Amino acid sequence: MTDRHNASRRRFLAASGGIAALAAPGLAQAVPRAGTERPLPPLVGRSSETLLPRGKARRVVICGGGWGGITAARYLRQQVPHLEVVLLERNQNFFSCPMSNKWLVDVVDTQYLTKDYLKVSEELGYRFIQTEILEIERGTKRVVTAAGALDYDYLILSPGIRYNYEAWFGNDRRAAEATRARFPAAYIPSAEHFHLKQAIHDFKGGDLVMTLPPPPQRCPPSPYERACLIASLFKAKKLNARIIILDHKDDVRPIGPGFKAAFQELYKDIVTYVPNAHVKEVDPFNKRIKTAAGDFDFDHAILMAPHQAGDLAWRAGVVGQSFQGGPDGWAAVDPLFLHAEDDKDVYVIGDAVGYVSPQFSFYPKAGHVANQHARIVAHYIAEREAEREPGYRLPDNLCFMMVSTQPQEAISVKFDYKVNAMGIIEQTQIDFNERKPETVGEDFEWARGIYADMFG
Ligand SMILES: Cc1cc2nc3c(=O)[nH]c(=O)nc-3n(C[C@H](O)[C@H](O)[C@H](O)COP(=O)(O)OP(=O)(O)OC[C@H]3O[C@@H](n4cnc5c(N)ncnc54)[C@H](O)[C@@H]3O)c2cc1C
Repeated sequence: MTDRHNASRRRFLAASGGIAALAAPGLAQAVPRAGTERPLPPLVGRSSETLLPRGKARRVVICGGGWGGITAARYLRQQVPHLEVVLLERNQNFFSCPMSNKWLVDVVDTQYLTKDYLKVSEELGYRFIQTEILEIERGTKRVVTAAGALDYDYLILSPGIRYNYEAWFGNDRRAAEATRARFPAAYIPSAEHFHLKQAIHDFKGGDLVMTLPPPPQRCPPSPYERACLIASLFKAKKLNARIIILDHKDDVRPIGPGFKAAFQELYKDIVTYVPNAHVKEVDPFNKRIKTAAGDFDFDHAILMAPHQAGDLAWRAGVVGQSFQGGPDGWAAVDPLFLHAEDDKDVYVIGDAVGYVSPQFSFYPKAGHVANQHARIVAHYIAEREAEREPGYRLPDNLCFMMVSTQPQEAISVKFDYKVNAMGIIEQTQIDFNERKPETVGEDFEWARGIYADMFG
């Protein structure tokens, strides 16, 4: 090692306290004894202390600033100006999963997907706090965050999803962590998307395997869109590569004929679709996966473990029970009014929402639905604040999926809801299977409109 290396290493160790630690045999002397710790400056976050003292206004705390949470903050500010609206979110910037498949293959850039939370909240007049939410104490109506605790009159939970790696690995954290780090699903706004983008652009050929989670899952058509768009990239680069879609389901759904036509007509030599591929064993170290439809080795993979409601739904104790008696993984809500089954002051919106109908079970876990849920819940809270009994409102859903980049073509699906004479929510679904350039235009128009709705 050179002197320069030694010098920079010494600087690093000194900066990290390493030299003192290495040089001092009596290390214990450097650690303050219990009761002698230096007091923290007053504004260093401590989760047990009050983060925001109460003023006169009643308060809504929104947990999670994704598609649902950010819309709820805006609509509440507009519709119930006398309420204090606080949005809590761990990330510094909003990152959109919708449109992110197009970003993976450079149809849109990073700026198109991201927004600065602080700027948006300043402009729209609600309070944004970037912090990790640690606990939700419904008994005392308190949310505990890494920066301190705050109480609420109404709570809105929009935590999105978590990956249920336990279904694959039990409590083997090493395997779960290796899977997340090496073969991320990129289904939650995080660094995973950047990792995946790099991996597909660096891919030199061979087998790329995608596991699709069992329903209910976040945005069911989007893995097929992702497969098509990555295939279009590999095709343009003339790579000798295969994309193997291991689907838990027995067929492609929704917009099945549209996607299957794209696989067959555009990516025949690239995309292999395998139905009924229930995952039995995942080995991220040896790059091998065993399924009910066969075993597969891979060069790279997008490993999507089953989805569940985000951690916060579990911490809030709103996750429902399955018929077998265990947790069903999703928030138990009143299907029409979206409050927790056992708590009218706690609303759940977006992907975390559980079973709502014997006809279709779950709303599609889509940003469009999360946005609609948020608007609906803002209306319910506005009505309650005006001391009126709210009438129910239902969402709709619209989803566009790009299947080709050269030329740009897309397919789409539309859902509508109504309550039938038995009081059950009914769903109507229309698939638009024909791929068309005009549908791409509709997709961008949809995104423009919904971003404007969320961010002003
Ligand atoms: C590849 C892909 C493509 C998609 N395409 C579409 C599409 O075309 N159209 C469409 O409608 N939908 C699409 N979706 C689905 C859409 O992204 C989700 O349905 C939507 O994001 C759900 O909103 P949400 O508010 O429930 O969750 P999210 O948007 O995930 O928001 C949850 C937020 O909570 C925060 N959070 C969670 N826990 C904590 C904590 N402990 N402390 C602090 N913050 C926390 C997270 O950081 C996150 O910002 C797509 C999804 C993917 C992955």
